[in-house]
Amino acid sequence: MSVTRTTCPYCGVGCGVLAGADGTIKGDPDHPANFGRLCSKGAALGETIDLEGRLLHPKVNGADADWDTALDLVAQKFSAAIAEHGPESVAFYASGQLLTEDYYVANKLMKGFIGAANIDTNSRLCMASSVAGHKRAFGTDTVPGIYADLEQAELIVLVGSNLAWCHPVLYQRIAAAKEARPGMHVVNIDPRRTATTDLADMHLQIAPDGDIALFNGLLAHLADTNKLDAAFTKNHVNGTSAAIDTARASDPSQSGLTHQELANFFALWARTKRVITIYSQGVNQASCGTDKVNAILNCHLATGRIGHPGAGPFSVTGQPNAMGGREVGGLANMLANHLELDNAEHRQVVQEFWDSPTICTKPGLKAVDLFEACANGKIKVLWVISTNPAVSLPDSDGVSAAIAKVPFVVTSDIMEKTDTNDLAHVLLPATGWGEKDGTVTNSERRISRQRAFLPAPGSTRPDWKILSDVAVRMGFGDAFDYQKPADIFAEYVALDKAASHIARDLDLSIFADADYARLIPTQWPGNDHRFFANGRFFHPDGKARMIAVTAPVLSKSRFTLNTGRNRDQWHTMTRTGKSARLCAHFAEPYVEVNPTDAAELGVTPGALMTVESIYGRAILRALVTSRVAQGQLFAPMHWTRQRTTTGTVNSVTAPRVDPFSGQPALKSNAVTAQLYKAK
Ligand code: SF4
Repeated sequence: MSVTRTTCPYCGVGCGVLAGADGTIKGDPDHPANFGRLCSKGAALGETIDLEGRLLHPKVNGADADWDTALDLVAQKFSAAIAEHGPESVAFYASGQLLTEDYYVANKLMKGFIGAANIDTNSRLCMASSVAGHKRAFGTDTVPGIYADLEQAELIVLVGSNLAWCHPVLYQRIAAAKEARPGMHVVNIDPRRTATTDLADMHLQIAPDGDIALFNGLLAHLADTNKLDAAFTKNHVNGTSAAIDTARASDPSQSGLTHQELANFFALWARTKRVITIYSQGVNQASCGTDKVNAILNCHLATGRIGHPGAGPFSVTGQPNAMGGREVGGLANMLANHLELDNAEHRQVVQEFWDSPTICTKPGLKAVDLFEACANGKIKVLWVISTNPAVSLPDSDGVSAAIAKVPFVVTSDIMEKTDTNDLAHVLLPATGWGEKDGTVTNSERRISRQRAFLPAPGSTRPDWKILSDVAVRMGFGDAFDYQKPADIFAEYVALDKAASHIARDLDLSIFADADYARLIPTQWPGNDHRFFANGRFFHPDGKARMIAVTAPVLSKSRFTLNTGRNRDQWHTMTRTGKSARLCAHFAEPYVEVNPTDAAELGVTPGALMTVESIYGRAILRALVTSRVAQGQLFAPMHWTRQRTTTGTVNSVTAPRVDPFSGQPALKSNAVTAQLYKAK
């Protein structure tokens, strides 16, 4: 039986997979992300590729249609809305599930040919605060380190990151490294006790959003104990004094930690040279997410602990191609290839390269704002690509109502029944994992191939092809005359060459002569490259910036709802929900509640609880556990309206966002909670 070398479609670790045509799945021993390892989700991929529930043919207003009818209608609706209301009356909402080639085409169509920047994605929920923090500190959206650093660190600090469930293979790598090197320490900073905490030598159970107070306290301690790298900051960093002064004015006890806990952590960090700080959604998904990121980066910049083996900050992305989407500008505030939307020279380079009739000149609407614009009638045509915002965005009932108000909604998806498809006028059937070809970039900047090993079912088409077909019908012919994904990848690499005179981190020259069919997992700008070891950053003066950040006033709500993922499910369970063994981990929606709170509310284990906010409510099974602190609740976000009738978690969450990144604050929602009483 032939075996195809491909990449797992779930998280940002980007594990290599060997897939047999009969659905046999194994970890790829030669892939540098996982060296043969897989987690429960990756190992069950073969159980998720049947055709049950698949959207196999286009549908227009609920009836089967042929491709020409559907595509003509979509193109005509886009063209008409643009002609009547202008380019900003239309929008794409895409996904970190898309391959880089899909993303590239969507971004090119919207920004270079429609002429607006209204393309945002569910990656806004994933790492937008890290992007904004990186750009403030480094001048570019650059992840400095590589996975091998995790095995070379003496201290790994995991902040707001349940790696054991959300990036399991990285967790396995760290666990193996810790076993091999007993002197290595792991600190877990999280309001919850999670599966990741089991690996930690120290668990700092901070207050929700207590991170800035904690890292400001660390920075002040490093300054007060002469642990800064004065030569590095003098030559390579601006803003040091202001950041330290602000940190000194901060009260570390606002982190919710005791004096002793703070002292132990500060001393450990200060005396350890090779420190990696890994962070993900607990940092990013906050109304102060960008400031949290910069509070972490400040400590690494102040001590020069960046760009060296085993030392640096490390943002791990949630989605399989959040990084690839960033590379090709698939967010409303970016241009392609790490070029700047608000820079006239950059726009000119891109427009000339695309030979496009226009180029957007201002940022488009970020995810939450985009659906607000749907609600207030500004968006006339919306295309949702490979994602399910009607259930995955905060205030999802409000988002559903907003989508229902849009005069024309088109979705492209692999599944027929989703909460968002139910609101669409046209459904376009897309090929899924195992059926399509392209590339993805993982959290360490490694580009790997996803390869087809199954035939495309029904009349499904890859997303890049669907987008190109619409672009051609809108009159943008030659610019979208792609025959295969390799053509798009080659254009993406060629654009990088055309912009090579502009100082950026992105450098794809290593792919210039790559054989796409045989492309092996490769990092940009080169394998095992760490950024910033030479002290050169990407602000115009070549220096980094430390940013003075202030700890927020913490919520006084009786209950704070934290949301996140389960070990065995991915997003809205479209694929993982097909596997009986993955569904056996948790069979129904639940909420974790502290035993003291449960007793006060009269909630016994397994009882139903009502969790409610001004946006909506959900009825969830109580999981009484001291993993959550008093006053805090945790609920996973996977169950859709189609899988539960008692309300989804995002019916309750608030559409609050970080002011710099626009990333929703899904980790700390003010809610009420009580024992459910049937009326
Ligand atoms: Fe897939 Fe992530 Fe699991 Fe690797 S760790 S197998 S990329 S879900």
